[in-house]
Amino acid sequence: MSQTNDLLARVRDVVRDQPEMPAYKVQGEGVTTYAQLWAHARHVADALLKRTSNRAPVIVLGKKSSLMVSSFLGCLMSGHAFVPVDSGLPTTRIHDIASQIEDTLVLATCDVSDELVELLPQSSVLDARKLAVEGQQAAEPDETVWVSGEQTQYIIFTSGSTGRPKGIEVTANCVGNFMRWMRTFPVVRDGGKVFLDQAPYSFDLSEYELVGALSTGGMLYAVTDDAMNDYGKLFAEVEESGVQVWVSTPSFADFCLVDKGFGQKLAPSLQMFLFCGEALHHTTVEALRKRFPDAIVANTYGPTESTVAITYGEIGQKQLDDPTPLPVGVARPGTEVHIVSRDTGAEVPRGQQGEIYIVGDTVAKGYYQNPQKTQQSFFDARMANGKHVRGYKTGDLGYLDQDGVLHCCGRLDSYIKLNGFRIELGEIEGTLEELPHVKQAAVVPVERNGRINRLRAYVVLHGHQEGKSFEEAQDLKAQLARLLPAYMVPRTVKVIDQMPLNANGKIDRKALKRG
Ligand code: AMP
Repeated sequence: MSQTNDLLARVRDVVRDQPEMPAYKVQGEGVTTYAQLWAHARHVADALLKRTSNRAPVIVLGKKSSLMVSSFLGCLMSGHAFVPVDSGLPTTRIHDIASQIEDTLVLATCDVSDELVELLPQSSVLDARKLAVEGQQAAEPDETVWVSGEQTQYIIFTSGSTGRPKGIEVTANCVGNFMRWMRTFPVVRDGGKVFLDQAPYSFDLSEYELVGALSTGGMLYAVTDDAMNDYGKLFAEVEESGVQVWVSTPSFADFCLVDKGFGQKLAPSLQMFLFCGEALHHTTVEALRKRFPDAIVANTYGPTESTVAITYGEIGQKQLDDPTPLPVGVARPGTEVHIVSRDTGAEVPRGQQGEIYIVGDTVAKGYYQNPQKTQQSFFDARMANGKHVRGYKTGDLGYLDQDGVLHCCGRLDSYIKLNGFRIELGEIEGTLEELPHVKQAAVVPVERNGRINRLRAYVVLHGHQEGKSFEEAQDLKAQLARLLPAYMVPRTVKVIDQMPLNANGKIDRKALKRG
């Protein structure tokens, strides 16, 4: 078991050997070197050590900036797990997350609205921008203080089925084990590469590039929110980045592929596409191979509960020639994938579908302060080599083929992926049903060309006004937008008189999906 923090130790090595290496770049900021990133992390650590007497997790609030990353490192250096929270979330949601964290402390890398300050406990916001004092060096905490071993490295909040976001606690060991595996990937292992940093830091996909780049002396090139809404800006940023390792969901690549300008001319240094988070489709890979003939396209799979990804598989002509959904690759060393029958709980033979169980040394501790939910999904396990590890029941349906390659076949429950975002439909329904006048709500995914492309909500209201359905629906949408992240707000809300029921007396979701 590691008694240091493997990621911090790697970053410190780069700081020592090549302090002027670029570590981070985002539009609006210059390049941040490893030495600068580390110096700011030390200021953060120093401030946290002076201010706190415990090791409670610290919320790091903001968007893409070098300050976010140095704040993560500073938390780890001072023995605190970090909780990355996107400042673009509705205030009530940020507050909901903050209220779940013991001794709430928010390290803000951006302005914080008065509304949020009012909701948070008094004096619980620390401005990360003010921590670095020009010309002053902060002492570096002793390595024994660093987050290490089975201590929590980060907590990532995802949509929760019970109507509240839930935190997943990932340990330093998990990240170290994931890091060692990732450093064996082609291209990444050469070191010093430029990684696209697109996923918000509140999603574990972003850990892919954070860990991949920072542990190999690479540079993160962050994509701004502005660019996400404007092809012109986005492509200007991609062109400027010199990106070599592209990390994103397939949806983001699809979004870029819509524009003919997205190709090798724009990103001539691109060597690898690293996908995770949702199904990768043939059409996406075929288009990428045409536009970037020299780049490797790799599909990887894994839930936040087992630290970013646990399988890796390159997609070449052989995989493309097979019309069945693309495989997600083979499990990393240190992880076993078991396919289990939902009926009997027994492992099924190769080729047969069942629930994917992940057993290995990157499985998270569990859900933050939620032993009941943790017990439902996590378990103690023993690997074939006798090692004691954690196991996680993913809720994903899949099978292992005769070569031991994993294939995913969708979910066994009502959580869905929309543009790579993990959404519990039950959370949206719960939020709707807490609104005044809403008697009952059901949310269904709407598909186009075999892919989920939006959400539709159906609601039954107390005191529905005849002829006012449109206004009522718009009002509900506006209320939802104040409570949920934008990607969770259904594009359409339909007011209906009563929910259709199936033969079992349950809401007939199939009928609702048909529209
Ligand atoms: P997240 O925790 O947001 O990373 O979401 C994890 C879930 O995304 C998994 O449990 C799967 O349902 C889905 N997922 C992740 N990677 C893939 C993939 N390569 N192919 C299909 N589904 C995936």
